Amino acid sequence: MQKEQCYMCEKSATSAEHVPPKCLFPEFKDAKKNLRVNLITVPSCDEHNGKKSHDDEFLMVSIAGIIGNNSIGYQHYSGKIQRALRRTSYKLLEKVFLRKELVRIGDENKFIEILWGTPDYERLINCFSHIAYGIYHHHFKQKFYGVLKPYLGFLHTNEQNPKAFKAFIKEKVRVELADEPKYGDNLEVFYYQFTKPDNFGIFLVKLCFYQNVDVFVSYMPSGAQKPTHLGFELMNRGIKTIITLGDKEYEFN
Ligand SMILES: [Zn+2]
Repeated sequence: MQKEQCYMCEKSATSAEHVPPKCLFPEFKDAKKNLRVNLITVPSCDEHNGKKSHDDEFLMVSIAGIIGNNSIGYQHYSGKIQRALRRTSYKLLEKVFLRKELVRIGDENKFIEILWGTPDYERLINCFSHIAYGIYHHHFKQKFYGVLKPYLGFLHTNEQNPKAFKAFIKEKVRVELADEPKYGDNLEVFYYQFTKPDNFGIFLVKLCFYQNVDVFVSYMPSGAQKPTHLGFELMNRGIKTIITLGDKEYEFN
């Protein structure tokens, strides 16, 4: 039998990698129910196994504590992650945020601690790219060849353009995904949806964690035509651009 190839590279797979990482799914003792039903795995080489690079842990600490998550995410954050943070004397935090603070909300007896800081953006992008490759492999039963571009919908920014872009992409994806099924056997923790390919063969996945943390990843298969969207061209050049989607208008620059 031929050995399976890694989902990321041409090397032979040596293990199965969970996508998304298993540690994002709370254990039974914390959740009091099974949230690890049929977790997705893909064949992986040593180098592309997140466990070995501690990227899994990094991702867990980065997204489970985000405000607005459902109670599953919150429980997970206050259980396993707080234990992990205490165990490592908050060293984990240093890995997650380039500049960080621990902020407490609430009074002395009842409070939650939230992470606040500048996330390690490059590393997050890297983590979500891996998940996007893995999800593609799992869904289409083949490897993805082309260019991937993650967009982190959950990060907040004060700049004007990214804000408008975020509102725009959220609405665009909401419309395109309205009739597409949600995949995943633990919807409260994670699911994904694929859009249909556009005229250029480009399509998008929505990765949703704890029913709140949205990440959009666009896939441009190799050989696909590069789109020239006048609106985006103008936007990139800093010219005031209005893009209409449905009955809403989005202003850039
Ligand atoms: Zn590999």
